[in-house]
Amino acid sequence: MGKTVYILGAGSSISSTKNLYPSIFGIFKKAWELEITSINKHVLSEYKELDNYLRKTFGLSISDRYKKLDYEKVFTFVDIEYDKGYLKFGLLKQNLLTILESVFMKLKNKLDPDQESEYGRFIKAINPQDTIITYNWDVLLDDTLGREFFLNKTFYPKNNSSKSVNPNGPNSYSFFITALKNDNYRYKDLSQNGNFGFYLKLHGSVDWHKCENSECKSFNKVFPTLFPLKERLCDECLEPTNTELIPPTLNKSISSEPLIRKQWNIAIEELKLAEKLVFWGYGLPPTDFNTEWLIRQTRNSDNLKNIYIINPDRRHRKRIKLLFKQQTNPQLIKEYKNFEEFYPEFTTWHREDEVR
Ligand SMILES: [Zn+2]
Repeated sequence: MGKTVYILGAGSSISSTKNLYPSIFGIFKKAWELEITSINKHVLSEYKELDNYLRKTFGLSISDRYKKLDYEKVFTFVDIEYDKGYLKFGLLKQNLLTILESVFMKLKNKLDPDQESEYGRFIKAINPQDTIITYNWDVLLDDTLGREFFLNKTFYPKNNSSKSVNPNGPNSYSFFITALKNDNYRYKDLSQNGNFGFYLKLHGSVDWHKCENSECKSFNKVFPTLFPLKERLCDECLEPTNTELIPPTLNKSISSEPLIRKQWNIAIEELKLAEKLVFWGYGLPPTDFNTEWLIRQTRNSDNLKNIYIINPDRRHRKRIKLLFKQQTNPQLIKEYKNFEEFYPEFTTWHREDEVR
C-alpha cells in the first residue's frame, strides 16, 4: 500500500461543519455574534484597546459584521509590533488568541454529536501509514481522532471520565500526543520506511500551550490541554503558559519554535514519500511562501503518481495546479468541488487495497 499525504486548510473544517466554522474572514464576525467581544451590542471593555487598534490600522471596527476583517493579517501585524518591543501589543495578541480559542470552543458545542461529520468519514477511510498535514488551528479533526481520550491517557491519567475514542483513527494521533510529552523521538526510527503515518499541525493548535520562561527546564516545550480557555500552568515552573499558534505569513515563527520546525521537517520527508497527494480545503494563499516551498519539495519525487484537489473555489484549485505545471501529466490531477464529490473516488482506493 502506498502512502497518501493529505493537506488540509480551513475549507475542510468549514465543510465538515456545514459552514458553522468560519474562514479567516469570519472570525471577528462570529466572535461578535457569539458575544465573545460584545455585550448587548457594545464592545466588551477588555476589547476596547483592540477595537481602537483595528479602527486606526485597518479602518474597521471589531463590530463590523459585514466587512471582511482578515484575522491572519491582524494577528501577523500585532505579532510584528510585539516583536519590535511594544509591550502593549502583548495584550492585544492575548486578546486575539482568546477570540480564536473562544470562537472554536463555542462553535464546537453547537455541533450535533450524533451526526457523523465529513471528518468522521474521512478518518474511517484513511490508512495508518497516511500522513495528515493540517494548517487548521481548531481541534475538530483532533477530536475525531480521539483527542480527549489520548490526552487523558497521556497527560491526565487520573482523569478517567472519557471513553470516546475512534477505533478507526490512524495510529499516528496517539503517537503524536505521546511525542509531545517526550519529544525525544527520532523520525528515522518511527517512519519505518514510510509505513508510519504522522499527524502534523504546521501552524500550531488552539489546545497547545507552551512555557515561555527561558529559565525553566520546560522552556519552549508544548503542553496540549483539554480546556484551552482555562489557564494552564507549566508543570515545571508553574508560570502561566501561552498558546502555540503561528501567524502563517511570518517565516521567523516557524524557525524559532522547535516543535513547529520539527513538524515542517517531517512534512518534507513525508511529502517525498507520497504516492497520492490530496489537498482538501486548502487554497494556497499567494502570501503562503512557506507552503509553496514545502510543496515544491515534491517536484523531484519519483513516488508521486496522483494529485487530488477538493475545493469549491476554481481559483484556489488553479493555484495548486500551477504548482505542478510541467512536472506532472495534467491528467493525473483530479478536481472536486467538495468532499461529497470526492468520496466515491476515495472509497475505491480501499477496495483496490483489499484486492491486493
Ligand atoms: Zn516552565
